[in-house]
Amino acid sequence: MTLTTLTAPKAANRLNQILETVSLAHDLTRFPVNVERLALDTASVFGWKDAVTEVQSADIKGLEGCLLPNENKSQWLILYNGNMKSQGRVRFTQAHELGHYLLHRQQKDSFECANAADMYNLSQEEKDIEADADRFASYLLMPFDDYRRQIDSIVNLEVFGSCANRYGVSLTAAILRWLEYTEDKAVLVVSRGGFMSWAWSSASAFKAGAFFRTKNNVIPLPSNSLAADDSIKIERNGINIAGKVWFQHAEPMMSLREMKVESDQFDSIITLLILPSVADVWPSNFSKVD
Ligand SMILES: [Zn+2]
Repeated sequence: MTLTTLTAPKAANRLNQILETVSLAHDLTRFPVNVERLALDTASVFGWKDAVTEVQSADIKGLEGCLLPNENKSQWLILYNGNMKSQGRVRFTQAHELGHYLLHRQQKDSFECANAADMYNLSQEEKDIEADADRFASYLLMPFDDYRRQIDSIVNLEVFGSCANRYGVSLTAAILRWLEYTEDKAVLVVSRGGFMSWAWSSASAFKAGAFFRTKNNVIPLPSNSLAADDSIKIERNGINIAGKVWFQHAEPMMSLREMKVESDQFDSIITLLILPSVADVWPSNFSKVD
């Protein structure tokens, strides 16, 4: 496989096949993925000479990770921010930088990556590259077949917490992986200080009008939501509340399930909303997205 034909799913699948085989053959634990170790072996898997030779913790203020070459680009170094408290974020960052190495190292000389929320000034091409590296990390750390087996008919924050533990990723990374493929109408909202920091909808929720445009918008949490209720810190199974609390154009009788936990990072609140499969929350005079 040459660099130009590799895509994020292909690269992740190739490495996952090898990890699967090696863990079975040597009776090793398959998850979480040891990205540091894998990064050092990646060049030999693909038959490349310019290997990642070091993965190091570093004091890189304002950044989460970097991928840097030596002078003649014969070796690469992955750095990750040593001050990140969560091991899940460290693992995801290492995998993101490995993604840049696998997919983008012929497009740019070096990669300096911050939290997505702090990367407003990127060109569309740079945004695409960052999203691509995130997709690679997500597919590598949480392979689809294995992930799907962890999610049975009941979806709640208990289940996603178990996934986060299994794969060694943050709770939000585990939920985003599910939102990417589920046919359920579900919305993840991360908030801080009573306002939405960002939100992400599954494809079917988006099509039903259940989404929030948080970029460059200040959106307060709805006053009757569980998210805004400071007296309740955790509700992993969720409670039913009126759909109108979150979506003003919801049918009066529609209810949704709202779940909530406090994030271990940045004092944020993680909220997951599950809407009924038949629900539409578009304003009546608004045309749908097909
Ligand atoms: Zn990046």
